[in-house]
Amino acid sequence: MRHGIDWNKAQALVAAERAAFTANNPRSQALAAGAAEHLLFGVPMHWMRDWSTPFPLTVAEASGARFRDADGHEYLDFCLGDTGAMFGHSPAPVARAVAAQAARGYTAMLPSEDAARVGALLARRFGMPRWQFALSASDANRFVLRWLRAATGRGKILVFNGCYHGTVDDVFVDLEGGAPVQRASLLGQVHDLTAHTVVVEFNDLAALDAALAAGDVACVLAEPVMTNIGMVLPQAGYWEAAQRIMRKHGALLVLDETHTISSGPGGYARAHGLEPDALVVGKPIGGGLPCAAYGFTEELAGRVERAKRDAPPGHSGVGTTLTANMFTLAAMRANLEEVMTDAAYARMFALAALLADGLRGVIASLGLPWCVTQVGARTEFQFAPRPPLNGSEAGAALDGELEQVIHLYLLNRGLLITPFHNMLLVCPDTAEEDIARLLAAFDGCARALRCPRV
Ligand code: PMP
Repeated sequence: MRHGIDWNKAQALVAAERAAFTANNPRSQALAAGAAEHLLFGVPMHWMRDWSTPFPLTVAEASGARFRDADGHEYLDFCLGDTGAMFGHSPAPVARAVAAQAARGYTAMLPSEDAARVGALLARRFGMPRWQFALSASDANRFVLRWLRAATGRGKILVFNGCYHGTVDDVFVDLEGGAPVQRASLLGQVHDLTAHTVVVEFNDLAALDAALAAGDVACVLAEPVMTNIGMVLPQAGYWEAAQRIMRKHGALLVLDETHTISSGPGGYARAHGLEPDALVVGKPIGGGLPCAAYGFTEELAGRVERAKRDAPPGHSGVGTTLTANMFTLAAMRANLEEVMTDAAYARMFALAALLADGLRGVIASLGLPWCVTQVGARTEFQFAPRPPLNGSEAGAALDGELEQVIHLYLLNRGLLITPFHNMLLVCPDTAEEDIARLLAAFDGCARALRCPRV
């Protein structure tokens, strides 16, 4: 027995599901074979090999909450590009803005008229007065760390055990037996990351206080809710106390809202009254186009501008020529003005509540030792009887093999959920019937796997 399921049944089920996937997807299989000729690992990005399928599923087209694969099957998409497409694939206002901009230039190393407007929209929405852009949330986080180290003159950062902030090298330090250890899976990393990265468990105020006490930490980089190791919610009062501790030690707070933008139109910080010094928003901000933005308080913006003024002329290490291009600024403007509305969020919250309640119902009816957590439009089921308190507990609840059985079972029934943990996202185009279909298939899968003794 493993997480309440019968592992023999799971192995038989996944073998059958793999065979069914192969039989049903001849065109995807042929396309994968063709791609293997010239693409490293046979895919445009190496981790696309790590889904539950025997070979990659090829997408033909996507719209709203649905996509179609190369073999003509239709899917309900509860992955939504792991948040990039949180407002549905190709939202109409963004598609229109992008089409209009397509004939008017993409990138010129100069600001477009949309830039000031997008800055104003971001400021009003997130309550941060000063903004810059990036091409990805990874880049935005990297740039923020650079600015903040320069502005504070402090070299260290603090992160929470089990965090993920994109491909920001600094954060790949784990707690092992209470000691910081550089993640062994990182490729080609020659720097000792533990020299400048401090790591503590989420929800542990005493550890945070002790780690900041030396006064050498520039900032805490955190998701307000951990979302990349399964989900870990802050305990009641955690952020209020944590912010007091940071202020006491002069450490700034950077909130990475790449995923927690699911919490509301102004992100988790706005919805819950947090007061970060810097904020990162990523994937869905341009309706799915590759872009990100980061905002500073007036006070921090002043310190950052001073640091730049006082530095010798030359490369800052912050930038890239494609950043803040005209194309993605047009997409961000349309998305902020017309797509990320209060009404869209209200609809997503209602749908996600339906989904989370339904998942809890299935789990309870089968007596499985699993739990469900919802953060706005985002729902996660985890292989633990109660929601984990920190990254270590959440990491212990992950089971990649079991995830793959469930994900492939759902995929073969036209339902896509996020790989590498168990996240389901809804968008404004998701329908109540879509959720009913997901729940029925989840129930079927859980029944097929359940250990009779549970
Ligand atoms: N921050 C968080 C919290 C993320 O989850 C991710 C990616 N899932 C990133 C940053 C990186 O985003 P991007 O892929 O845009 O670099």
